[in-house]
Amino acid sequence: MSHAVFDHAEFDDHEQVVFARDAETGLKAIIAVHDAHLGPALGGCRIWPYATEDQAVWDVLRLSRGMSYKAALAGLALGGGKSVVITNGETRKTPAMMRALGRAVEQLGGRYIVAEDVGATVDDMDEIAKETTYVTGASSNTGDPSPWTARGVFLSMERAARRRLGGAGLVGARVAVKGVGAVGRHLCHLLHDAGATIYAADINQAAVDDVVKRFDAHPVGVDEIAAMDVEIFAPCALGAELHVESIMRLKAPIVCGSANNQLASAQDDARLAQANVLYCPDYLVNAGGLILVARPPLGMSAEEAEAKLAQIPDTLDRIFDRAAETGAPTGAVADQIARARFRPDTAPSRGGV
Ligand code: NAD
Repeated sequence: MSHAVFDHAEFDDHEQVVFARDAETGLKAIIAVHDAHLGPALGGCRIWPYATEDQAVWDVLRLSRGMSYKAALAGLALGGGKSVVITNGETRKTPAMMRALGRAVEQLGGRYIVAEDVGATVDDMDEIAKETTYVTGASSNTGDPSPWTARGVFLSMERAARRRLGGAGLVGARVAVKGVGAVGRHLCHLLHDAGATIYAADINQAAVDDVVKRFDAHPVGVDEIAAMDVEIFAPCALGAELHVESIMRLKAPIVCGSANNQLASAQDDARLAQANVLYCPDYLVNAGGLILVARPPLGMSAEEAEAKLAQIPDTLDRIFDRAAETGAPTGAVADQIARARFRPDTAPSRGGV
């Protein structure tokens, strides 16, 4: 590995980073616990064919830190953590590999609780649950969090639309959804029911065909979707969607989607504000799934979880208000509020996690 972990630009005083290897199953995983001050670090497992180990380290550190902000802003007594499993041509995810990951999670004694992220399914959580109780999002507890994530994004879109577009909200609004996987597909369902016009792009043609058929979405190329003349752009694929070039091409006055780490760099938050784009901070609007999977470890009732979900658009409104008052970009405002909850003595290390 060419970069040291302690000095890594994304390290931000992570409490623990564990490299887990199981030769028999081919497991190569990194588990990162960013901050466990508020409670155990809960965060999904991303299973991805990283080209290099450096990329996996960069991803897990950014994602794990983002979970500290997400839990804090959602008002959950949880810390931030995340895991990644490195797959490649020869090494594929198997049930045995998931059990090996479960053993690695178990060794952390509850400091880290695993759930789904990109590439991981409820079935994977069921395998992990054979080795550890520090797992949520399994069929025996909450199941798939993505419908809840989509609901939080949808409620946030409604609020942002009312603020920026006026009375009609999402009725007749055009929404460009990039990535119609688990969350994007549920989001299309909600948008369709709300009377919005949907444009959809995905590298997986079958996923696009499905939302075209079910929710009257209009198919668009993956390179065109972010620059469409629409009211809302919803990044629901992978991160780093918003950068200097894409922001220059952006026509939508609102960005609101589920993808984690949408801002490629801290400056992109300010770039969006300068371009008069209402950016809905990703880790706030996509916290619905975390709220669902947090139910078992926090012993939350269904009503309490619904109430936390309903708070997402209210928190968004507060962020919009504070951004308008101070002139600070919305991502930076979200960072300040979240950081003050889990590390009150330190300033945010970047804008927009
Ligand atoms: P998913 O894997 O089910 O869906 C992602 C979709 O994006 C896939 O259909 C994939 O083909 C598509 N995609 C990947 N690269 C693309 C590209 N370059 N252009 C267009 N499409 C592309 O994952 P998901 O669970 O729906 O999560 C989507 C995003 O939301 C991720 O960034 C994830 O971290 C974030 N998120 C998910 C949840 C959740 O509950 N699942 C919670 C919070 C955040």
